[in-house]
Amino acid sequence: MKKDTRLVTAGRHPERQAGAVNPPVYHASTILFPTLEALDGYHTKPVTYGRHGTPGTHAFEEAMCEIEGAALCRLTPSGLAAISTAVLAFAEAGDDILVADCVYEPTRAFCDHMLTRLGMRVRYYDPCIGAGIAALLEPATRLILTESPGTRSFEVQDIPAIVAAARAHSDRVLVLMDNTWATPHLLRPLDLGVDISIQSATKYIVGHADALLGTICVGAAQAERLKRGYRLLGQSVGPDDVYLAMRGLRTLGVRLRRHEETGLALARWLKARPDITRVLHPALPDDPGHALWRRDFSGASGLFGFEMIGGTRAQVAAMLDGYRHFGMGFSWGGFESLITPSRLEKARTATRWDPRGPVFRISAGLEDAEDLIADLEAGFARFHAAA
Ligand SMILES: *Cc1c(COP(=O)(O)O)cnc(C)c1O
Repeated sequence: MKKDTRLVTAGRHPERQAGAVNPPVYHASTILFPTLEALDGYHTKPVTYGRHGTPGTHAFEEAMCEIEGAALCRLTPSGLAAISTAVLAFAEAGDDILVADCVYEPTRAFCDHMLTRLGMRVRYYDPCIGAGIAALLEPATRLILTESPGTRSFEVQDIPAIVAAARAHSDRVLVLMDNTWATPHLLRPLDLGVDISIQSATKYIVGHADALLGTICVGAAQAERLKRGYRLLGQSVGPDDVYLAMRGLRTLGVRLRRHEETGLALARWLKARPDITRVLHPALPDDPGHALWRRDFSGASGLFGFEMIGGTRAQVAAMLDGYRHFGMGFSWGGFESLITPSRLEKARTATRWDPRGPVFRISAGLEDAEDLIADLEAGFARFHAAA
């Protein structure tokens, strides 16, 4: 089955739901058992208590397993909760955790302020380290956190090389990948040997800026450990958010193609401008991560960055405050275009980011690319007029 077909068919069972195309939404905490015998045997039943899932949440987990090529999927109330839950399910006091220097800032805060408090050691590494990660592996190393491309700085990590170094070192070292940029539609982490695949489904899977959700997917070898850790931590998700994620999944393929096309149109247009010093987009042929991106990914999403020649805060404000189509706000991956400033130099400890000017991140939405380009052009005019 081709992957676009898989997005449409995964996890669907109309025969179990009166022929309805989509799974019903179960608002359920208590699940009733008709007899004492059934109650005593609750652990053999697929649905036992709302926190442990309903037919609606199980359908989405099943769909994600098919799309990721995973044995088990667990859902969390946010992408950050997917990362924290996965790490806590697998790591313990005394463990050494290696974290890519480009990770999502709240992931870094979780590592610095929670994992260290729980007695773990956290070290950051250059996301471009590749096979060189071998030199950092120690007997206590338990997890390598990767995020590729970094969703502010857009370095592409050599995931297969990192996986190979982990395997060569010890069975104890697990590789986790935050794959939110590509989604499993454009890259399947488990196919590259990654042990734990994370999505902030809030972004492209939900796709409409109206729900938060995270997914954790693992192969059979890590399934029991994840199942247990997830349950102990009391994680659970709301049925309506899962429904929105399932609905988003069905159109993910067409949306991603449009996000990619528009993102690249904007990136190429920006690249040709004299006031732009660099465009951070791995699908551009001269991007430092392009060869790895071509090797491992089957496409690009619509999130990328660009750096401008220096400007004052007033110039930047004049540019950002007047957009007609680009909104300013956290998150990305929705149907609407966004732009935000990125302060990369502050968010790094293992590597240096030497800015030549202000850096911005664009989430290309589903608007017409010509309207977006006109909007950007008017923004640059405001930037220069405010000089
Ligand atoms: C947004 C984001 C997250 C966190 O997702 P939430 O659903 O907002 O908690 C994690 N990783 C990356 C790369 C993100 O962009």
